[in-house]
Amino acid sequence: MLIVVKLGGRILERGISPELVLDVTKVLPENQIVLVHGGGVEVTEIASKLGKKQEFVVSPGGFRSRYTDKETIDIYTMVMAGKINKQIVLALQSQGIHSIGLSGVDGSLVQAKRKKKLIAIDERGRKIVIDGGYTGTIDNVNAQLLWLLIRNDYVPVIAPVAMGNEFEPLNVDGDRTAANIAGVLNADKLILLTNVQGLMLNGKLVPKLGVSEIREALSKIGHGMITKAYAAIEALESGVNEVIIASGLENQSLSSALEHKCCTVISRE
Ligand code: ADP
Ligand code: MG
Repeated sequence: MLIVVKLGGRILERGISPELVLDVTKVLPENQIVLVHGGGVEVTEIASKLGKKQEFVVSPGGFRSRYTDKETIDIYTMVMAGKINKQIVLALQSQGIHSIGLSGVDGSLVQAKRKKKLIAIDERGRKIVIDGGYTGTIDNVNAQLLWLLIRNDYVPVIAPVAMGNEFEPLNVDGDRTAANIAGVLNADKLILLTNVQGLMLNGKLVPKLGVSEIREALSKIGHGMITKAYAAIEALESGVNEVIIASGLENQSLSSALEHKCCTVISRE
């Protein structure tokens, strides 16, 4: 099976855990894996150490995103494609997994269209239009490059930095990056590992649901999880068989998710 796994920034606060690396080694012989990671919390921390306070905006659809100006995209790229990406690659290689860390810029792996404007909601609940900064919407993934690596038994580790039309780095969401990659590779599964067991609705974990059910639930889902809901819909619509949202903090997070233990499984119907 081909599995795309997204490691949420919330489970990478102390780097990738040894348990998770071990679980990857367990799952790998039978499967092909592509890893995508987040790391927003660490970007914010390091930016503040550099004296660059981060600002966030919320869209009318409930997405919370980083306001990414020129200084911020430089810090974002340094932390995502540098520190976090290399820590994961090193941890995997320490357990004998051949892995290659890439950002979307490398080999034009993830191309995006720069957002000219963003619609945000201000403190009083009014819609305002702001400059899009260095954020983008993914419009192309270089699947050939990924196949080259996967077929040669490398585990690609991908940072959510895309390449814009004018050859500039762009901040793209990690969940959406993983969904796009899973879609173009026609992956069997997309697994989103985060710091909660899965999607909660009305105070309860939802073990299973279909695309139309998650669409109907969108207005009840909060920041963080809403991006995963949209990523799931996007992946399933582009041909991925199943999306699993699970905790990445358990002992055998990945193998349990593959067995549908303690998580949310979203299917095409
Ligand atoms: P990651 O770094 O894994 O992307 P996020 O913080 O972006 O993590 O997203 C996960 C968070 O989404 C959870 O920690 C939780 O606080 C939040 N969340 C909002 N709404 C829900 C929901 N309906 N079910 C589960 N988690 C939710
Ligand atoms: Mg997130």
